[in-house]
Amino acid sequence: MHGGSAATIQERHGRPDNEDAKLRKLQLHTKILLALLAGMVLGILANRLGFSDFVAAYIKPLGSVFIRLISMVVVPLVFSSLLVGTASLNDIKKLGRIGTKTLLYYMCTTAIAVTIGLLLANTFKPGLGLAEDVRADLVKSSAGQVDTKIGASLEKPTVIDLLLNIVPSNPVEALVEGRMLQIIFFALLTGICLMLISPERRAPVMSFFEGVSDLMIKMVHVIMRIAPYGVFALIAAVVADFGTGILVVLFKYSAVVTAGLILHVIVVYSSAIKIFTRQKVGAFFRGIRPAQLIAFSSSSSSATLPVTMECTEENLGVSARICSFVLPLGATINMDGTALYQGVAAVFIAQVYGIDLTIAQQLMIVLTATLASVGTPGTPAAGIITLAIVLKSINVPLEGIALIWGADRILDMCRSVVNVTGDASCAVVISASEDR
Ligand code: ASP
Repeated sequence: MHGGSAATIQERHGRPDNEDAKLRKLQLHTKILLALLAGMVLGILANRLGFSDFVAAYIKPLGSVFIRLISMVVVPLVFSSLLVGTASLNDIKKLGRIGTKTLLYYMCTTAIAVTIGLLLANTFKPGLGLAEDVRADLVKSSAGQVDTKIGASLEKPTVIDLLLNIVPSNPVEALVEGRMLQIIFFALLTGICLMLISPERRAPVMSFFEGVSDLMIKMVHVIMRIAPYGVFALIAAVVADFGTGILVVLFKYSAVVTAGLILHVIVVYSSAIKIFTRQKVGAFFRGIRPAQLIAFSSSSSSATLPVTMECTEENLGVSARICSFVLPLGATINMDGTALYQGVAAVFIAQVYGIDLTIAQQLMIVLTATLASVGTPGTPAAGIITLAIVLKSINVPLEGIALIWGADRILDMCRSVVNVTGDASCAVVISASEDR
């Protein structure tokens, strides 16, 4: 059964030699990191010497192909592995226990993340002292884009709509459109109902989806061979296009977001690993690094999911059963990085507009940012769109999003790293608690 005998991906795919595989992995690791640095250098050169268009036209497509390839795997992988992962828990009570622990971990860490963001933003006040002309420039430079994007996000939802939308009226449509929350709902319900039918009926369905899930994981292995080239191209394109100028203008704001993200990873995840598992903190971060690098260069925790699953299972020794339940769920609903960033951004915008936020309003930010991050898809720049929900709840002008639009690309990369790290830390914690 899927992961039932704790078969690792390597065993299921008949990898002969463990050491050999580790060595190869290490090399891939290093290659991705070197590719990232080389991409940055090329990007800076292109930006300074004015050949950004060349990079956009001829180098970026390589990165886009890589992202499309891993995104291609996401829907079939999430559906098959979550379905099999749920059904192979084999017992509704166990599912309830693991499900509750997972949701609890996700919600608590997200609320802590927003709180860290709020504390830092209130302490360092990045929005005070932004010169009037800088503010006008920022608004002007991104106003057009922001209007259309926020317009779209405001047709969207109250919290009730968000909850209602989780239930697909047509699951095939949900799969075709890649609506992750709906796919997860349908996969979970199918997995639960599979437990309830007779073993003879269940067996062929299970073995079909186990096969699909293994096949998708194999596909990830193959695609990961071009990861270094993809990462190189993606980073070169971002840096060439964007330069680092805007970060200087918004230095204090970007620094507060980044410091918050680092603090959250170091304090919250390290403590969780230390307190709840026997895993070494260093080993955890080493194990998850390839997924972090892909998240950083793609700005998408959803596209990174196949790699997160591979790292968590192979490098961190979490069983396939737990990975395939916890991680697809996390990639969709757990976004600590996004929530933290939304906390800082909301306070920053309020400060720029001279609005003093009351304690009640700040608590409202904790609540809405936690919920908005659940509804944020793991795709690039999604968090800045759902930030509108947070701003609306505390009556801060939505146009304020224009102020931070320019700096968002790089911050998006950083928060995506935190998002995938949070998912993996949950898988390790749940796995340790189940072992016990
Ligand atoms: N890009 C983020 C992610 O994929 C979501 C966000 O924009 O905050 O995790």
